[in-house]
Amino acid sequence: MHQQSPTAGPVQIVTITPDHKFILDEKKLKEILYHRRAQGKKISLVSIAGDFRKGKSFMLDFFLRYLRAKNQKEWIGKESEPLKGFDWRGGAGRHTTGMIMWSEPFIMSLPNGEEIAVLLMDTQGTFDSNSTVFENAFIFALTLLVSSVTVYNIMHNLQEDNLQHLSFFAEYGVLALDAYHTSPFQQLTFLVRDWQFEYETPYGFHGGEEVLTNRLQIRPNQHHDLELVRSRLRQCFRKVNCFLMPHPGLKVTNRREFDGRLEDIEKDFKTQLQSLIPELFRSDNANFVKEINGEQITSTQLFEYFRTYCAVFAS
Ligand code: GDP
Ligand code: MG
Repeated sequence: MHQQSPTAGPVQIVTITPDHKFILDEKKLKEILYHRRAQGKKISLVSIAGDFRKGKSFMLDFFLRYLRAKNQKEWIGKESEPLKGFDWRGGAGRHTTGMIMWSEPFIMSLPNGEEIAVLLMDTQGTFDSNSTVFENAFIFALTLLVSSVTVYNIMHNLQEDNLQHLSFFAEYGVLALDAYHTSPFQQLTFLVRDWQFEYETPYGFHGGEEVLTNRLQIRPNQHHDLELVRSRLRQCFRKVNCFLMPHPGLKVTNRREFDGRLEDIEKDFKTQLQSLIPELFRSDNANFVKEINGEQITSTQLFEYFRTYCAVFAS
């Protein structure tokens, strides 16, 4: 899984211009999806989406560590090593809205020994005062269409409006499909950051399952809109799960010179990373390999789908 060149890094593949047009950089996307290591292989695309400045890129850099590690037990790294990869502070450069993919695929094996190419994608919505609903819907919908696993990063709790937004984005995404399929999207994982009620509901997938079941329950006398949102989500996704993540600690959120090193991160957070990440990248998960119209696709096919979907949204 570890073969990466020293120049590997984040690459902006979709940009949203100040006048709200989105541009797919076909040349850069092609360089990634036609990478010799990926050619002819089936793929998995794991993405993260959600509000701005909520630790998405920070989390992705731990995904990167896992994929780069030579030893799957000691992947998390050294105590004093700065966290690098996708730019997670946003402070340095101007943040560009759009989609950012890691420049090189990672190779993993399926349980039958077949090698697949694993790709990582970061997204950056415009959740500032200039944001338009359309831009966010476009980024999110395209993410759902091209990813096998989409992590929806949310703060504090899974709220009613998270479900409503997701349902809207999914509905928007379905418009780009030429035929209606049941479960057009694969896995959606709600990642709840800074979960504060551990005394009631524990961290991890088990606690997440409790929260999710509770939120997705259709109750008698419920408002019809909410019922619709819930049934739409069940129709659109093959698998929906939820993970409750602890707060990473005050050094992470308050210290300007924090560089991502493990020694400055709370133990609970690190423990939960060790539980979340290997589970997300399990190659025996039926939704790990990307499918379109019920068929597992290769990286070069994904390139064509990217173009098609972008063209649909642009029209
Ligand atoms: P993004 O815009 O969602 O990609 O956010 P970034 O990954 O750039 O992180 C924004 C800030 O949130 C950084 O200063 C991180 O140190 C901090 N951060 C990272 N993880 C967490 C978390 O789990 N909870 C909180 N409260 N802050 C976090
Ligand atoms: Mg980011």
